[in-house]
Amino acid sequence: MTNEGKRYRWPDGKTCAFLFSVDVDAEAPFLWDHRGKETRGLSNLEARRFGPRQGLGRILDLLDEFAVLGSFYVPGVVAEIHPEILPAVASRGHELGVHGYYHERVDDLTEAENRRILDRCRAVFQEQVGVTPCGYRSPAWEVTADLLTALREKNFLYDSSLMGFDHPYSLAGLTEIPVQWLLDDAVYFKFQGDGLDRWHPADPQAVEAGWIEEFEGLREFGGLCTLTVHPWISGRAQRIRLLRRLLAFIRRQEDVWWATARELSEYHGASANATVYEIKPEPANTNF
Ligand SMILES: [Zn+2]
Repeated sequence: MTNEGKRYRWPDGKTCAFLFSVDVDAEAPFLWDHRGKETRGLSNLEARRFGPRQGLGRILDLLDEFAVLGSFYVPGVVAEIHPEILPAVASRGHELGVHGYYHERVDDLTEAENRRILDRCRAVFQEQVGVTPCGYRSPAWEVTADLLTALREKNFLYDSSLMGFDHPYSLAGLTEIPVQWLLDDAVYFKFQGDGLDRWHPADPQAVEAGWIEEFEGLREFGGLCTLTVHPWISGRAQRIRLLRRLLAFIRRQEDVWWATARELSEYHGASANATVYEIKPEPANTNF
């Protein structure tokens, strides 16, 4: 088995692509995890509220420094608690996408519940900024086949939650814009105290080296480098500086297509790649 002749085709002679994606989770996962329970502690909530208060603005300013557009996925409840977020992101030209209402895990919910959440989220975006998102990123990157069907029927263009290739592919009539844990800030930096996380946050210099190594590998193999950051995690001072160094490094490479997830999905859908890399969603057969 060889990958010769199977390289993904990028536009305009580019050899790879780079997507800066931002999951604006803020309090949403905390609210979902504690639903129905009484909570009195402020610590975890305040750490998460740092995202909307300071982290998000720093990330928006950083993207402006590089004149880059990113894709921002905002849970519906976060947009409603912080009604300044969607206008701030949209006014700077970035893409907005759906990321659950309470950051619910979709495999814990029924198909009908997931469909209602998609509608509820889109209504918030429409009401606040007059935008109907065409992109979806699932909370915790979990997806089910019936959710993919719902996305297609509701005219979403793409999902960005899975890792089946390291370049875009076609899945159940949608484009999949793949993510990966290696390029997610939470893996290295998320630390909540109270024994919730077992290891101290990673050294930003080490993470920078790992991310550049992955980017260089994806350049070699012709893939998509999807970086995913969370404002409550990567908005911290040392991580903004890390992101600035990373973006400066990638900017120096002229063979990279910087694109939003929407641009990537539109390109993929209209290109020959869409049929070359087409798969069906297949859950495992566990009836044995
Ligand atoms: Zn999230």
